Amino acid sequence: MKKSGLNLIGVKEYNRALILQLIATGNGTTRNSLAQRSKLTSMTLTNITSELLQQNIIVESEASSDSKNLGRTPKILTISPTSPVVAGIWISKDFLFGILSDLSLKLVAAKQEDFEENETSESILEKAYRLAEYLLHLTERPVLGIGISTIGVVDTIHGVIKNVTNFFNIKEMDIKSYMSPRFDIPVYVKNDMQAAALCEMYYGIGQQKENFLYIGITNGIASAIVSNKQLLNNLTGSCGELGHTTIDFKGPKCNCGNRGCLELYASAPVIIHRINEACGTRLTTFKETMEYCTTSVKAYSILQNISDQLAYALNNLINIIDISTVVFGHSAVYFPDEILASIAYTLNQISIFRNNRTITLHKTKFEENSPLYGSVCVILDQLFTGNLTI
Ligand SMILES: [Zn+2]
Repeated sequence: MKKSGLNLIGVKEYNRALILQLIATGNGTTRNSLAQRSKLTSMTLTNITSELLQQNIIVESEASSDSKNLGRTPKILTISPTSPVVAGIWISKDFLFGILSDLSLKLVAAKQEDFEENETSESILEKAYRLAEYLLHLTERPVLGIGISTIGVVDTIHGVIKNVTNFFNIKEMDIKSYMSPRFDIPVYVKNDMQAAALCEMYYGIGQQKENFLYIGITNGIASAIVSNKQLLNNLTGSCGELGHTTIDFKGPKCNCGNRGCLELYASAPVIIHRINEACGTRLTTFKETMEYCTTSVKAYSILQNISDQLAYALNNLINIIDISTVVFGHSAVYFPDEILASIAYTLNQISIFRNNRTITLHKTKFEENSPLYGSVCVILDQLFTGNLTI
């Protein structure tokens, strides 16, 4: 529901942001496709594209000549190679990863900064500051803002991690207050699941879907929901704590206070532990564990059992939100395709909507880097919704 009207200046900025979004995400690269998708009059469209061309934010060029069309080759509009860029930092459990990207998610620079043994919130903030400064000095192009995608429960408005587990005994981290005064560009902070879902919404499967659920498996299991092309809880920043859905109320105690939570059975470290214990292996990473599962009947059967637990937990959520597209990201991209197919099969057997629609499961095309690209999308989302202007 719209909460306030748009004055003429607001309308202009809204339309401009929409056109920029369509060009940046590759959804409208010709004037015809832009007109169809935006439903703007040709005069309004021409005014906006002329302004964007003049500001060197976009460029117009001939489409590649390999097209078999004999008629006039349409000109295409793309993001200019000298247009402003965005800095993004992903705060994971083990490292910081910083990137510079243009508005079409084309990488300009990247740098990883590993954590040491005894990090504190101060040392991590200092590292994040130095990483951002390093990235900003790499380019002559204007930088629109710094987007941060981080583990933990995030107060998006104040840019603070309010709660995080198993992270150097850190519970809270006031990222925005530390970073903002040190830069003269905006800093926005978002939970990494939400940031990944934004990335999926603008540049991934969300381009074709109005609604989808993003699920990420890491040391825990969390999710984010996009409904009618809107990220739910975008302002409050809370992510769906799918990992704390109880799947066995008589199960072991979880550190959230409940019993039998999903992540006690299906988080990445638990899956690795379950396979190692049963198979006598010493696998350490989730990726190698998933590869091992495709070579060992015993390991595969354990994973099959875990996939059923995941399917039942997902079904609880899908029954409530009625979404038929699920995107697997973070470490969940390493699940063997057969396991994803098995989760989809179970879901479609037990779903309350089984007679109406088929639930489809996908792996994100960004592999395990959705939260990294998502950090940039935290800023791009502000730009595409007209909250941030160039
Ligand atoms: Zn729990």
